[in-house]
Amino acid sequence: MPTFIKKTDFFKLYSLTDGVYAAIAIPGKGAWSNAGIVDLGEEVLIFDSFSTPSAGQELRKQAELLTGKKVKHLINSHYHGDHVFGNQAFRDASIISTVETKELSKEKNKLGDVKKEIEHTKEYLRSLKQQIDLTRDPILKASLENQYDEMNKVLNDIPRLEVVLPSVLFEEKLLLKGSKRKVELHCLGGGHTPSDTFMYLPEDKIAFMGDLLTENLHVPIINPEEFLHIFERVRELNITTYVPGHGNVGNKELLNELEGYITFLKDTVTDAINNHVPLESLITRFEAPLPYKNWMGVSGIEGNLSKMYEFYRGKKQLRSGRTLI
Ligand SMILES: [Zn+2]
Repeated sequence: MPTFIKKTDFFKLYSLTDGVYAAIAIPGKGAWSNAGIVDLGEEVLIFDSFSTPSAGQELRKQAELLTGKKVKHLINSHYHGDHVFGNQAFRDASIISTVETKELSKEKNKLGDVKKEIEHTKEYLRSLKQQIDLTRDPILKASLENQYDEMNKVLNDIPRLEVVLPSVLFEEKLLLKGSKRKVELHCLGGGHTPSDTFMYLPEDKIAFMGDLLTENLHVPIINPEEFLHIFERVRELNITTYVPGHGNVGNKELLNELEGYITFLKDTVTDAINNHVPLESLITRFEAPLPYKNWMGVSGIEGNLSKMYEFYRGKKQLRSGRTLI
């Protein structure tokens, strides 16, 4: 059971066991995603660095306060800005990711001229504001408002934001051994991005999942087959506590829920494809069942329906060989 320790301006800290902590983002405050703190014995490891340098700095401060030790490693679970824009607070640590995550970070998180970045972000915030004013769906409204608040925090930090890339790279598995505990990093492919890493603490039966696990959220799914395959492999490990990338600390039920969601979407889109229902008609006729109706997300369930429709249609075309003509 997670034990609440304290609240900072950005996140709430929970102790999961002696020397392992979850930093759970307070919505709209500039952390945006969850992070982890692991006492290895002589030094400390951090899992993900939040969405702003300010939140990253606070994470480092709290990690050093809690353990009285220096941060030695930072893990980047995947390349998304809400998990890596706090990297600069850990510049002197070894920043670890997969080779592909580093490449994606370099390519997609490139920062241009500060003035232009500020202008683009302001423009995006204006478009979000328009959507907020137009939407009547209270869940979508709340999701857009949260996106607005988080992006506003990113905007405030743009003048000092630097993209600090990982310096220690691995492909599928990396073991880190401290005097106090062992840490395993696993990348079994990518379901949310092309390369998603999760961290497993075998002696503590704890996993920090990055965005391979989220709570009550339409987390973007780019490859449902790999996502489900990763879940199968995760089930083979001895895990009792799961820390999701967004949402609260949970148990196996959290995994069951997201797996159920992906399977439901997969069945819905493959049925539609087999019955030659075009995507537009599928979306128009579609009514999200409970509990998915109440999940948050700026693209809603429709965003994932579209992505998965294209994914399975592509696969079908490939199987029938039509794409070769
Ligand atoms: Zn993500």
